[in-house]
Amino acid sequence: MDLLYKSTRGGEEAVTASKAILQGLACDGGLFVPDEIPKLDLTMEQLAGMSYQETAYEVMKLFLTDFTEEELKHCIASAYDEKFDTEVIAPLAKVDKAYYLELFHGATIAFKDMALSILPHLMTTSAKKNGVQNEIVILTATSGDTGKAALAGFADVPGTRIVVFYPKNGVSPVQEKQMITQKGDNTFVVGIRGNFDDAQSGVKAIFGDKILERDLKEEGFQFSSANSINIGRLVPQIVYYVYAYAKMLESGELVNGEKMNVVVPTGNFGNILAAYYAKQMGTPIDKLICASNDNKVLYDFFQTGEYDRNRPFILTSSPSMDILISSNLERLLYRIAGADAAKDSELMKALSEKGCYQITEDMKAQLEDFRGYYATEEEAAAMIAGVYGDTGYVMDTHTAVAACAYEKYVKETQDETKTVIASTASPYKFTRSVMEAIDAEKYDCMTDFELIDELSRISGVEIPNAIEEIRTAPIRHRTVCEVKDMKTTVKEFLGVE
Ligand SMILES: *Cc1c(COP(=O)(O)O)cnc(C)c1O
Repeated sequence: MDLLYKSTRGGEEAVTASKAILQGLACDGGLFVPDEIPKLDLTMEQLAGMSYQETAYEVMKLFLTDFTEEELKHCIASAYDEKFDTEVIAPLAKVDKAYYLELFHGATIAFKDMALSILPHLMTTSAKKNGVQNEIVILTATSGDTGKAALAGFADVPGTRIVVFYPKNGVSPVQEKQMITQKGDNTFVVGIRGNFDDAQSGVKAIFGDKILERDLKEEGFQFSSANSINIGRLVPQIVYYVYAYAKMLESGELVNGEKMNVVVPTGNFGNILAAYYAKQMGTPIDKLICASNDNKVLYDFFQTGEYDRNRPFILTSSPSMDILISSNLERLLYRIAGADAAKDSELMKALSEKGCYQITEDMKAQLEDFRGYYATEEEAAAMIAGVYGDTGYVMDTHTAVAACAYEKYVKETQDETKTVIASTASPYKFTRSVMEAIDAEKYDCMTDFELIDELSRISGVEIPNAIEEIRTAPIRHRTVCEVKDMKTTVKEFLGVE
């Protein structure tokens, strides 16, 4: 019997995993969730000796039940290969009392690579399984990180093309350079004269254009999404929490059955939801600590049970966590409401109409395992400088928010449970903020590439390929368009009249 996926809002028939991956978002606007969360069928001791790829298979086979063993193993082998700069894929670094699970060793040095390096393979396999002949066209609007990770994942994957729209003047110079130097004949990168919201609305309008959909179908194309609401991005993220526990067990940091806590720097709630799923599968995880920056909607939610996005949007030095609507929280709400799609729809309606909602006492009682903490800009910067000063380990701005949350949690609870902190980006991705946290005066006047060399010197960590590459890489994408011309631009790329 296949594990089936339903919409959190109840307005759609249950579908297989491959169909849910192809479709991305459910037709009623809800998110696909599995009927139940499967239990691991191996013990942690059995998992302890396994490689990342083997662990990935053992976890993902339980969710993607309509994939054959051969299909799934092929997807895994194609994703977690030498694109990663370490064979262990997701290493653990013990620093002070915490264990940093480094999720940034992939092609674009942020944790998005963990899922976006396998999603293209899951998607093309799903297309084949469902007899889809069309070429899949991935459309993405990005504020920086997702675009590059999606481009790197889909570049030169047969049967796919990818179009990324970014705000021409709204991303960092490093982020822009990373995108416009992207190789791959099937990649298209476009700067738009507008902001991220314009890019996002433009992409949504293209997705919703039925006439365009029909025209494209005639030419052999269909759209899909690499957005974090795709179940094909969530499932691969469960793997590294299971893997982290197994590796802690293997190295003797934990004894069998001993629980560990997990701290996750959170934006769209995808990464921490994966940790929650790992726990439901039977991984001995105790507390799930949700770390926010100054945009602390989730912190407030865990305190009070009220979600309220009516507040100013604050730009921080951890931009991937600057989010006021955490989409994947909907999947958790659905579960804690007892798989009640009507309740979920009611809350989501309130969110879209009033910008806020309140969960019931029953639902709140089920959030026991979660703790919310947040860090200010100053606290996060002080954490980077402090840990570097004490240990020589340099962490990025997002990871620093998580480290602060952990420190606050321990201070409050004196809990000595071994704790894994999800480290979501390489410090090289946010070099200026990181270096200025360490010594603002000294580094203030250096250029970005001078800072990169300096970071390598002080940390002793080799400059990653992803950064080295863009120093000299030729620019391959120069298209810039007005927001109103986004659709025409997509058609031109595809050669559709
Ligand atoms: C995307 C991202 C996050 C937030 O992850 P969510 O799954 O959206 O909660 C945190 N840190 C970095 C560096 C990211 O790129």
